[in-house]
Amino acid sequence: MKLPPFEYACPTTVAEAVALLASHDGEAKPLAGGQSLVPMLAFRIASPSLLIDLRKLTALREIKVAQDGVTLGAMVRWRDILEDARLRVAHPLLVAAIEHVAHYQIRNRGTVGGSLAHADPAAELPGIVVTCEATIAVTGETGARVIDAADFFRGPLMTALRPDEIITAIHFPAWPARRRFGFAEFARRRGDFALAAAALFYDEDGEGKACNVHVGAIGVADRPLRLTAVEHVLNGSTIDDATIAAAEAAAATAVDPPDDIHAGGAYRKTLIGVMVERALRSTTASSPKVKVM
Ligand SMILES: Cc1cc2nc3c(=O)[nH]c(=O)nc-3n(C[C@H](O)[C@H](O)[C@H](O)COP(=O)(O)OP(=O)(O)OC[C@H]3O[C@@H](n4cnc5c(N)ncnc54)[C@H](O)[C@@H]3O)c2cc1C
Repeated sequence: MKLPPFEYACPTTVAEAVALLASHDGEAKPLAGGQSLVPMLAFRIASPSLLIDLRKLTALREIKVAQDGVTLGAMVRWRDILEDARLRVAHPLLVAAIEHVAHYQIRNRGTVGGSLAHADPAAELPGIVVTCEATIAVTGETGARVIDAADFFRGPLMTALRPDEIITAIHFPAWPARRRFGFAEFARRRGDFALAAAALFYDEDGEGKACNVHVGAIGVADRPLRLTAVEHVLNGSTIDDATIAAAEAAAATAVDPPDDIHAGGAYRKTLIGVMVERALRSTTASSPKVKVM
């Protein structure tokens, strides 16, 4: 299908991109990898008067691994994450989730900033930023601000971004050595959006009990969720068969997904329980050495 007509700009600085956005009164849209936006144009779900191509904003392509955590520039692509050996140590849960994103061709172009701004409730990265309490740096006409991931997603394809703002970076807090984590997803085919997925991590106290448990759910609501009821079951417990069964039941009870064209709500409720169970059974300890550069 042909795209609707639009003007095109390719700024070389964030300030220029933001000024262009601001001058179009909500009628302009940033273009990153184009893997969600271009289909939306083709289907006339969006018809902006101006596309602002971010590809020359090279400062937004950086991946930083530091003592205080991992920072991904908004134009970092899925492929860049999977090819960066440092991230397998510095944020293994992020890498485990991104391995499920889309197909080879899409991973060559799709970006982290585009995924968060698009806010598909079944997408992996929004679920990971919520689970990991990441922060999202944005810049608009009046300056920069940082938004907690928990406050960023407002509903399907809806975020806290203002019309003149672009995402510049995503920051994940430091990932301690030996943290245990798991990611489980069910999709019709590998690379499709999740019907349901669970992301989780926990640390262990001196007695081998789980503490600092974080559990996230993808694909079971209008936005990614933290499953606090499941965290409550797991915190202070030994992760054995009985605890895992209780966590699975708590996950299914905690969500109320609607029916849609892909699956019934009751099916998704059961599925998220199974995903939590699988993620818990698959938990691996992180490598003890976090390399900081
Ligand atoms: C067949 C197919 C399968 C897919 N499967 C999956 C999957 O399994 N999991 C998954 O997560 N995704 C999947 N995707 C989506 C893919 O990951 C997209 O690349 C991603 O959601 C959007 O990233 P993008 O860089 O392509 O953004 P674009 O398509 O360029 O933009 C998407 C939206 O974000 C806005 N935007 C882009 N960058 C910024 C920025 N820096 N600041 C503010 N707004 C911005 C745009 O204006 C637009 O509204 C799939 C896509 C396709 C076509």
